[in-house]
Amino acid sequence: MKHLDIVKALQPENEGKEAVVCGWVRTFRDSANVSFLELSDGTSFKKLQVVIDKSALAVDPECTKLGASVAVKGALVKAYKGEGNELNAVSVALLGKSPADYPIQKKRTTLDYLRGIPHLRLRTNTFQAVFRVRSVAAQAIHRYFHENGYYYVNTPLITASDCEGAGEMFRVTTRPWNAQAKSEGEYYKEDFFGVKAGLSVSGQLEGEVAATALGKIYTFGPSFRAENSNTTRHLAEFWHIEPEVAFAELPDVIEIAEDLLKYLIKAVLTECPEELKFFDSFVEKGLLEKLNHVATSDFAVCTYTEAIGILEKKNADFRFPVHWGSDLQSEHEKYLTEEVFKRPVFVTDYPKEIKSFYMKQNADGKTVAATDLLVPRIGEIIGGSEREADYTKLVAAMDARGMDKSAYKQYLDLRIFGTVPHGGFGLGFERFVMYVTGMENIRDVTLFPRSVKNIM
Ligand code: ATP
Ligand code: MN
Repeated sequence: MKHLDIVKALQPENEGKEAVVCGWVRTFRDSANVSFLELSDGTSFKKLQVVIDKSALAVDPECTKLGASVAVKGALVKAYKGEGNELNAVSVALLGKSPADYPIQKKRTTLDYLRGIPHLRLRTNTFQAVFRVRSVAAQAIHRYFHENGYYYVNTPLITASDCEGAGEMFRVTTRPWNAQAKSEGEYYKEDFFGVKAGLSVSGQLEGEVAATALGKIYTFGPSFRAENSNTTRHLAEFWHIEPEVAFAELPDVIEIAEDLLKYLIKAVLTECPEELKFFDSFVEKGLLEKLNHVATSDFAVCTYTEAIGILEKKNADFRFPVHWGSDLQSEHEKYLTEEVFKRPVFVTDYPKEIKSFYMKQNADGKTVAATDLLVPRIGEIIGGSEREADYTKLVAAMDARGMDKSAYKQYLDLRIFGTVPHGGFGLGFERFVMYVTGMENIRDVTLFPRSVKNIM
């Protein structure tokens, strides 16, 4: 259809032009001589006001119903109030009716209610803003890596290895259930791949393959985890940004992570000012100030051992008291970043027992060169490490965990043929979007969230 996007219709340089604008009715107001339709077509956060002179134009009442879709022809004139243009209608054509039970009425729109209508909730301001920010952030991720000389690689989503420790895998199978199979191995021999296969929890292991030849790579794609934890920060299917870099040690990994986050925050601040103003007013008070501050000041760094020292003093207040060796729970992560450091903080050098087999073992024999980046309100947003590049040490770590080394032959080969120090991290895309929008539930930054007992 020949028409003008609302984002363009609003621009001052289009004042005085004739145009056809299409969109969905967001509000309708009627008075004695004129009535007003507010239209949204998704191209801008601002809506276009259509002015109808009732003495000159009779409009089909169906065109004024909330949620109806219309095409309006008219003249763009400077808005009576505010910036940009409004449209003086010459004709209003109905594209699609919207009956009176349109599920998005002003009164009922809580986030919880909207979760029940994922196919319609994008017609609200909140979700329009979330998905515009999400799109801008995705573009900025590719731009950041491209500008910094990284290659974009696509790692397999179906995998036979399970990147041990990252989470439970979903199985991929074409076999019907069979109680007769004598063993797991025999059962999977008849399956599509001939071995047990699943959906990847992380592209890291394959990312290392690419990084130890191409130097700097990143992946940006979905990861799947059969998380049985019904939290506001976990999905069964989420998008994962995973850079992997050769000739890099833990401090390099930390530097890249901080640089990337600041770049992304600046991009969203520059490209989504209207959306962020909205979030600042209605979702998280102080959001803009927080983001401006974070984008321009240093993140904190502290070792796990230091963190435990800080946390132990507060043990009486925690549901799960900590001691050296405990995994940090969300309550501890939030306390560190919100109360102690009051900014993003990298926690480094965790006990090897609570981290994955592939992390570089430190000289102390107790810790690994890992880091988690914790941010206020969310907790962990990034998990990364320098990888163990020493063949013998890597094998020892796998043996200590009773892992089947034959399944990791290629991964071990990288330590045999020209091994190099290297490292990387995983950034959860939805958690980043939560962080920059202030949205509190990961289900509200995902088009169709998948979680335990939920696949609408
Ligand atoms: P958590 O401790 O929060 O469960 P994790 O330590 O299992 O996370 P990693 O394996 O380190 O997570 O994955 C890297 C990043 O991917 C995390 O820092 C987080 O941002 C994101 N992430 C991990 N699991 C999920 C999930 N189920 N849903 C959404 N994002 C996730
Ligand atoms: Mn982690």
